Amino acid sequence: MGGAEQRFVQEAFDTNWVAPLGPNVDNFEKALAEYTGQGVHVAALSSGTAALHLALILLGVTTGDEVLCQSFTFSASANPIVYLGATPIFIDSERDTWNISPDLLEKAILDRMANGKKPKAIVAVHLYGMPYNVQEVSKVAKAYGIPVVEDSAEALGSSIGGQRCGSFGDIGIFSFNGNKIITTSGGGALISKNQEVKEKAVFLATQARDDAPHYQHSSIGYNYRMSNIVAGIGRGQMEVLQNHVAARRSNYDYYKEKLSSSSEMIFLEEPDGYFCNRWLTCILTPSFEARESIRLALLEENIESRPLWKPMHLQPVFMGFPSFENGVSEDLFDRGLCLPSGSNLAKSDLEKITNIINTKI
Ligand SMILES: *Cc1c(COP(=O)(O)O)cnc(C)c1O
Repeated sequence: MGGAEQRFVQEAFDTNWVAPLGPNVDNFEKALAEYTGQGVHVAALSSGTAALHLALILLGVTTGDEVLCQSFTFSASANPIVYLGATPIFIDSERDTWNISPDLLEKAILDRMANGKKPKAIVAVHLYGMPYNVQEVSKVAKAYGIPVVEDSAEALGSSIGGQRCGSFGDIGIFSFNGNKIITTSGGGALISKNQEVKEKAVFLATQARDDAPHYQHSSIGYNYRMSNIVAGIGRGQMEVLQNHVAARRSNYDYYKEKLSSSSEMIFLEEPDGYFCNRWLTCILTPSFEARESIRLALLEENIESRPLWKPMHLQPVFMGFPSFENGVSEDLFDRGLCLPSGSNLAKSDLEKITNIINTKI
């Protein structure tokens, strides 16, 4: 926390705005929209997962539809597809960004269309804060007229050519869960360049109440709005976002300096023009065994590290769904490790971690 959070939360109490609306919600949305740029409109919601769910609904995804989804991600990118009775089709990653492969994406679209069904949407993810190949993914999406949901849950503060993540997709989403680069304890946001889309998102997120003096409903609603208390934390967090990005990038730089010289350790590099918030620093070790020996050596010192996301096409719950694979995400899962990456890591912490890793390589 940066310090201002408690002041905004106190303000909510003092003015009795303890509800899923109020000045903190309005101002947090405004701050996020200004930060993201491109004239976007922002709806603050209860979670990133809720934002993904509403994004798919707003793009018309419904029972029986197919949605293309990056396989190398956290399960929340895919779960809302299944909430809607639609079928996720998982797409493997490219080496350059570790994110959705534009080649496989096009192959999947052609294959599904040949099967008689055009996919309804694409869920692409800026995993670990590294932007996906926006230029190529957008090109493919446009060529076939399929909208993109941009899962920016991990990428607040990242950009390509100065344009911020969250503003690239037809609809974007952020998460403010406890583990993200800024947090409201739990929360999310839906981003659109279209004011009407934002308004529809807010309508659906507040139980889809028609304009009437009594309670009247013509569509199914959700209770997904962010509360004014939680938004107060968000307003305070916006003041420290840039510090968090700087701290996390400095973690990455330190790890790279201390580890890459002495080993076959591979770091995920920024392609030209890409700016990664380095939410988590990840390394690719030479083998599964090397990865495990490092992870266990850290654990012995009570330091938590974690394998990279297990691809969705390998998850028991998603095993039955179609997938387009090239082996990249499976390899990343086998050999990759997320290192401790908090915004408040001390130099001495980093030193200790790299010393332990260096005894294993
Ligand atoms: C955290 C996360 C989400 C979900 O956000 P919540 O706010 O936790 O619901 C979705 N996608 C990715 C890639 C995430 O990391």
